[in-house]
Parts: sequence; structure tokens; C-alpha cells
Amino acid sequence: MPKARRIDSRTLELPDGFLESRHLDRISDCWLDERDGDLVLHPRLPDVHKVYVEPTTRCNLTCRTCIRNVWGDPDADMSKGTFGKLLEQIRTLPDVSRVVFTGFGEPLAHRHILDMIAAIRGLGIAVSLGSNGLLLDADTARELVRMGVDRLVISVDGVEPATYEGVRGAMLSQVLDSIRRLNETKREMDSLLPALGIEFVVLKSNVNELPRLTALASRLNAARVLVSNVLCYTEDMREQMLYGYEPQPSLLASGWPVRTGAWITWGTLELPRMHWGAERRCRFVQDRAVVIGWDGSVAPCYALSHNYAYYAVDGFRKQVTRYSLGNINNESLASVWMSEDYVRFRSQVRSFEFPSCPNCDLRDSCDLRQNNEGCWGWNPSCADCLWAQDIVRCP
Ligand code: SF4
Ligand code: SF4
Ligand code: SF4
Repeated sequence: MPKARRIDSRTLELPDGFLESRHLDRISDCWLDERDGDLVLHPRLPDVHKVYVEPTTRCNLTCRTCIRNVWGDPDADMSKGTFGKLLEQIRTLPDVSRVVFTGFGEPLAHRHILDMIAAIRGLGIAVSLGSNGLLLDADTARELVRMGVDRLVISVDGVEPATYEGVRGAMLSQVLDSIRRLNETKREMDSLLPALGIEFVVLKSNVNELPRLTALASRLNAARVLVSNVLCYTEDMREQMLYGYEPQPSLLASGWPVRTGAWITWGTLELPRMHWGAERRCRFVQDRAVVIGWDGSVAPCYALSHNYAYYAVDGFRKQVTRYSLGNINNESLASVWMSEDYVRFRSQVRSFEFPSCPNCDLRDSCDLRQNNEGCWGWNPSCADCLWAQDIVRCP
């Protein structure tokens, strides 16, 4: 174990080899923390890797499964000024390699979404887009291909028209037409991009169609199917949930061939965990991701990016309050990312120092839990998080 040496009353020297081997030579300073008697240095590095951007909270649909049905947050678009600031700030973050336009709202409903995508592509950064696919007309498809958007994830929650309509209140044929049009455009423009992914929120009402989803994915030439469980905002949704505290039967599905140019590859199916488990990890924090809301607010993940109530795995109703670590209209994303609160929060999440509320004797009556707070001193708490369990997943 390398030894830190005290040089004088105010100076501690860390060995060169230690700094180099951990790529810490870029660090100018650290936050100093104490945890259970240990001295902890949290490096302040502008090392954001992935930026999720919520262009709008408006949507052309009102899906049964959507948080927007129950929240009190406004329907609003990201302004040109806020996006301009984000663009400038991303330029100064050397590790950003992907921007994902998605969120609680339909990105293609934003009037300037194509300009936003073009601006990010202009920085040479990869772009993913999550969409319900219904506003994907021929011109938009051509622009996405021309700009080199490399991933497009479209929500398709049913293989039968009636099932899809029951969840989304829209016609399956319309979204399938959009996807076929995109594939046609890719062929015409001789491009393999964007690679198509399908997101499927699995419910009691559509689970029987899951085995047929891969055949649909194959016909649509989708390289990836991401299956997520539903985050239950209402009692009605709880009746549709398939996961639970106790082990549940696994979901059944198989792979499918995908054409990529002259090659045939195998599609990837990502299934969620179906019950509460001991292993917890946060993909947002691990991926060094950050979420920028429509108003420029900075949140660590989608779970904490809005004000809403939901039911935890054991049916306990919780109220989540938006956790904003700053706003890019007032200070730079780099400075929010390296702030004491955010650096310590990420460290806490990486080591997952939160209790597991569903396993606690006080789980049915705890006021802290009800307000998404925790008894180990960290607020907000990740103790009930369904994303950290891989029960709920994001593209
Ligand atoms: S498409 Fe997405 S944002 Fe729009 S209502 Fe459906 S789930 Fe909500
Ligand atoms: S916050 Fe603490 S006391 Fe309350 S339910 Fe969770 S683990 Fe139990
Ligand atoms: S564990 Fe859950 S609530 Fe905590 S930061 Fe990650 S996604 Fe957000």
C-alpha cells in the first residue's frame, strides 16, 4: 500500500507512482472527507462521460404508464438560451462522448430538436435519441441519418395493435410505418445508422407478446431490445406490475438475426431483474452520466429528476422530490459536477451506502421512507431505487 507523507504542518505528499497509476495527474484539488474514521480524498475531475438531455416535458401521447399523468411539473421546452449554455459547457468537458436526447416528454415534439442534435454532432460527439416514434416523418428520418445519429430507441409496448393502443392510446401501424420509413431512408442513403433499438415496458397485459417481440425486432432490423418493468405511479399500474419482492418467474424470449450491411449479426435482448435483490448498482453514476432537465437543472439520474409519487417494490407509496444539484443557467456544468454535494453523492452511490428499505422492520410506517429520505443520513435516499436493482431500465 503506498504511503502518503506529511511534509510540513499543512502539506501531505502523495507518491508519484500512485498518482500516475490512477491517472490522477490531472487533478488540481480534491474534497476531503472522513468516513468511519478513514480519511477519504474525492478527486474533483470534470470527467462527465454521458449527458442525458430532456429537450421537453411535452408529449404527443398520454401513455397509461407515464409519470406525466400524475406529476405536478409543467409542460415546457428547453429554451434556446439554456441549450446554448449547455453546448458551450459540453465543449469544456473533455470526456463527454455521448449525448442522449430523451426524458419524460417526446424529444421530437421540440421545435428545434434537429438543430440541437446538429449542434452536438458538430462537436463530434455521438448522439442517441429516445422517442415514441410517432413524429418521425420522412424529413426527420432523413435528417437523423444525414447527421449520423448513431442510436435511435423507439418505444413499442405491444405486438398486437389492441395491446399497443391499450398502453399508448395510439395506432401500432403508425409507429411501424415510421420505423419502416427510417429503414428505407437508411437504405437509400446507404447508411447503417442510426442503429435501431426497441424499448418495451413489460406489463401483465403485454407479457404474452414478449416472445413475439423478437420476431418483430428481426423484421424491423432492430439490433437491440431493451425490456423494462414499469415504475408504478398509480394503483391501476400496480395491478399491471410483474416484479415483486419475492423471486418471480423469469421472462421468456430469444435472440434474432439482424442485417448490418453485408453481415448478419445477432440482436441483443436486455431483460430486467424481476425481484428485489441484494446486488445494487447505479448505471447513471457508474457511467459518469448526468441528466439536464428542460429548465437547465442538473440531476444525477432520471429517478430524481422530477417531483412525483410512486409505489416501491413492496407497495409502499413514496413521494420523490426533484434533486437538483445546480442549474447550468447559473453556473457551469463542470462546476456543478465537481461540487462537494455532487462529488460526495456519487461516492455514496458508488459504494451504495444506503439501507434497503423493503428489508426493514419499519418499512410500512417510516416517514423518512415516505419522503424518499434515508436513516443513514443521506437525502435523497437511493434505498428503494428500482433502477439500481435493474428492475426499471433506461435506454
Ligand atoms: S411517449 Fe413517453 S413521455 Fe410521452 S406519454 Fe408516453 S411514456 Fe410519457
Ligand atoms: S429509512 Fe431506514 S428506518 Fe426507514 S424504512 Fe428505510 S431502512 Fe427502515
Ligand atoms: S441509485 Fe437510483 S436514485 Fe440513486 S442516483 Fe442511481 S438511479 Fe438515481
